Amino acid sequence: MLPTDNIVYLKGVGPDRAKVLAAELGVRSALDLLEYFPFRHIDRSATATVASLSEESALVVLSGTMSNMTVVSTGPRRERLTVDFSDGTGTIQLVWFAGTKWVRSKLKPGVKYTVIGKPSFYNGQWQMTHPELETELRPSTSDTQSPTSDFRPPFLPVYNTTDKMKQHGLGTRALARLTETLCSCITSVDEALPQEVLDRFHLMPRLQALKAIHYPENQFQLDAARARLKFEELFFLQLDYQYAHYARCNRSHGLVFTSVGDYFNRFYAQLPFPLTGAQKRVVRELREDMRSGRQMNRLLQGDVGSGKTLVALMSMLLALDNGCQACLMAPTEILATQHYNTFIRMLDGLGIRTELLIGSVRAADKKKLKQRIASGETQLVIGTHALIEADVVFHRLGLVVIDEQHRFGVEQRAKLWDKGTPHVLVMTATPIPRTLAMTLYGDLDCSVIDELPPGRTPVRTYHRTEPRRPLVFSFLKQQIDAGRQVYFVYPLIHESEKLDLKDLEDGLEMVQSYFPRPQYQVSIMHGQLTPDEKAFEMERFKQGKTHIMVSTTVIEVGVDVPNATVMVIENAERFGLSQLHQLRGRVGRGSAQSYCILMTKDNLSGTSRERIRTMCSTTDGFQIAEADLQLRGPGDLQGLQQSGVLDLKLASIVDDEPLVQATRNLVRDILDADPTLDRYPELQRHLAKSRNKLLWSKIS
Ligand code: ADP
Ligand code: MG
Repeated sequence: MLPTDNIVYLKGVGPDRAKVLAAELGVRSALDLLEYFPFRHIDRSATATVASLSEESALVVLSGTMSNMTVVSTGPRRERLTVDFSDGTGTIQLVWFAGTKWVRSKLKPGVKYTVIGKPSFYNGQWQMTHPELETELRPSTSDTQSPTSDFRPPFLPVYNTTDKMKQHGLGTRALARLTETLCSCITSVDEALPQEVLDRFHLMPRLQALKAIHYPENQFQLDAARARLKFEELFFLQLDYQYAHYARCNRSHGLVFTSVGDYFNRFYAQLPFPLTGAQKRVVRELREDMRSGRQMNRLLQGDVGSGKTLVALMSMLLALDNGCQACLMAPTEILATQHYNTFIRMLDGLGIRTELLIGSVRAADKKKLKQRIASGETQLVIGTHALIEADVVFHRLGLVVIDEQHRFGVEQRAKLWDKGTPHVLVMTATPIPRTLAMTLYGDLDCSVIDELPPGRTPVRTYHRTEPRRPLVFSFLKQQIDAGRQVYFVYPLIHESEKLDLKDLEDGLEMVQSYFPRPQYQVSIMHGQLTPDEKAFEMERFKQGKTHIMVSTTVIEVGVDVPNATVMVIENAERFGLSQLHQLRGRVGRGSAQSYCILMTKDNLSGTSRERIRTMCSTTDGFQIAEADLQLRGPGDLQGLQQSGVLDLKLASIVDDEPLVQATRNLVRDILDADPTLDRYPELQRHLAKSRNKLLWSKIS
C-alpha cells in the first residue's frame, strides 16, 4: 500500500468506515491513518488481575480460563452470551451481544486465554463487554481480522475514538487492528527531515518511527519513535513561522513612515505625565519598525494598566503624521466605546477626525461613516469586528492596532489583511510564557512593557470562604462609605445564558439584601443587555451614581473605573488564572489601595487551591502566566488548541522547552545559510503544503 492510497482500500475499512474516518478524524489516506497516533499503549506483559480492577481501570489485559457459558435468547435471531473468566484472583463476566455463534464455537473450557477490554462494575459484578480474545482465536463483532501471523505485538496501541466511530465498529481495538494491518503492508513514506538533521540529532527514519509509534517492539523503540516525531513536529512549526518571518522581512513594501510630525509632537508635549522608561523604549521600537521599509508585525505585551493603550495611540499618530489612517480594533463594544471616549479626551485640541464604528451604530449613520472612511476624511477609527466587514474600505490604512488579541479569531485577523498591507500592532494583557511565545509567535516581533506607571499600589488579594462573608461585607461597607466603589463578579457556570443570568440575579439579590436601597445603588451588567443598556450602566457606575457593579465576566477586559477599589470574585475556583488576573486588573487603577477578594467554597481541589494561592502571592502577570501553563499542563491549552494555533499532537510546550529551543535554533541556522531552501527539497515540499495554513500568520 502506498502512503497516498485512499484509506478505503485498507483491508477492514470499506466505504462506510472510510466516510466515518474522514468525518471524525480527517483520516483519508493511508498516511493520515499512520499519523493518527495512539495516546498510550498497553504493555501486554503487564497483565492485571481481577482482584486489582477498579472503576477507573481503562483497557486491561487479563489472563485466565473460561467456565459456565450461558446463552440467553433476546429476540428473533438474537442472543446474549456470557462466560465466567477466572484468573485465580477473582472472576469477571465476559459478555457478547453480537457474533455470539462464532465465539461460542471457538471457546474451549480449560484453555488459557488472554482477554483485553474495559472492565465495568455492574450489578455487583465485574463485567467486560465484547472483549478481545487471544490465543486460539480472535473473534470480533466486526468483519475486521488481523493478518494471520503468530507474532503478538508486545505493546497494544490505544486510540482516542468518538461515539460515532464506535457506532461504526471503530473502537480503539478495531482501530488498532487497522493500524496493525497498515503497518504490515506499507513499505515506504517520504522522509520529511533532511538527512543531515537526522544524523546530527540521531533521529529514527520516518517510516520506522511511524510504524513504531503504533507497534513498538519495546519501550526503547517507542521512546525513540516518539522523540523523532516530536522533533519533526516542533521543527516544522518553527519552519512555518520562521519562514513566514523571513518572507515578510524580505518583502520591502511596508509603508515607510519617515516623519515624526505635528500630531505626534503636539500630543507628546501635552501629556500630563512623563512616559515610563518601558513606554519610551517601546515607542522607539515601533518607530524603528514603521520606518524600516518592512511591514511591522509586532506583539506588545504588558500587564493590565501598564500603559499599552497610550503607546498604541502614539504609534497611530505616527501613521497620521505620514498621511495614513489608523484603526484600533477592540473585542467588545464596551471596550471600543471606552477607547473611543479616552481617545477623544486625550486628542482634544489636535483636530483629528476620530470616529467609532460598532455594530450598534444606526445603519444610515454607518453608511455615511463608511463613506468618510473610504474618502480618507476620517483619520482614526475605533471599532469592533464591524471594522473588518468587507464593505469597510479605507482610503489609506497605515496601521492597525488589535487590542486583547486572544479574543480575536485567527480568521478575523486574516480578514483585516485584505485591507492593504498596514503595519500591525497586537496588544495583549495576558502575558505569554517564553516557550509559548517562541512557539506561537515565531513570526512576530515582540515588545514588552515591564514597568507600571509610578504611584500604583499593588492590589492586595485575599482568599475567603462562605463563613467569613459577613466580615467581607462589612469591609465592603467601610470602603463604600469612604467613597469607593465595588465590583462583584460571577462566573459563567452553565452552558445556557439563561441559567447564568439566574445565578447573577441571585447574587444581585444577596448583595442588595446587605446593601439596601436607597442608601446603596447597584448596577448590573451581563451579556444579555443591549449595547445601549450596557453603556448606560457603565456610565452610571463610572460617574459614581452606583456603588456596586454586579457583573458576569463581560467586565473582564479593559474596563477602567479608577475609583473602584474592591473586586469580589464569587466562585473564584471556577476561573482560570489568566482570567482572575484580568479581572483583578479592573481595580488598582487609581492611587488608593485596592483589594481583590476571592470567594470560594470550602474544600478546593489541588489545582484550584494552587491557582488561588498564586493569585494571593503575586500580581506579576508573567509569573501568573508561567504558573498557569504549569498548572493547566500541556494537554489543556484549550483555547489555543481550538483556535488551531497550537496544533501539537506529541510535543508539549511545557515539558519540551529544550526541544523547542533546539529546533528554533536549528531552523534559524538553516534559513540563515539558505533562505530560499534550495538545498532542501523536502522542506520546500513541506512549505508548499502548509502555505494555506499560514495565511493567517501574516497578521497574527
Ligand atoms: P493598558 O492598556 O496597558 O491596560 P492604559 O494605557 O489603559 O493601560 O493605561 C492605564 C492608565 O494609566 C490610564 O489611565 C493611562 O492614562 C495611565 N497611564 C498610562 N501611562 C502612564 C504614565 N506613563 N504615567 C502615568 N499614568 C499613565
Ligand atoms: Mg488596556
